[in-house]
Amino acid sequence: MSHRSAPASRRTILIRAAALTGLPLLVAAGGAQAAGTLPQATAKYQVKPGPNGQTCDACAYYVPKAGKPAAAGECKLVAGSIEPKGWCQLFAPAPKH
Ligand code: SF4
Repeated sequence: MSHRSAPASRRTILIRAAALTGLPLLVAAGGAQAAGTLPQATAKYQVKPGPNGQTCDACAYYVPKAGKPAAAGECKLVAGSIEPKGWCQLFAPAPKH
């Protein structure tokens, strides 16, 4: 039996973030969204890797720029330009294929 847990759902992450920050939850249930709206400061986003070398380009919520994996992309949760080697406290490992 594996001891690895599946990444928390986007909804769960946003609910946790809202609970931690006191922000109102403005998420449409079940709606697909290309870029997130959570402020970078709220997610404690940083432009360098996080603990244990965690990076956005290994996160389930990262959306790389098409054809330019080294360029800044977007995040399904966090607003704005997201560096592939950045990180925030909502990091969830992308499923391995
Ligand atoms: S680590 Fe944070 S900012 Fe980076 S892709 Fe994941 S959720 Fe988005």
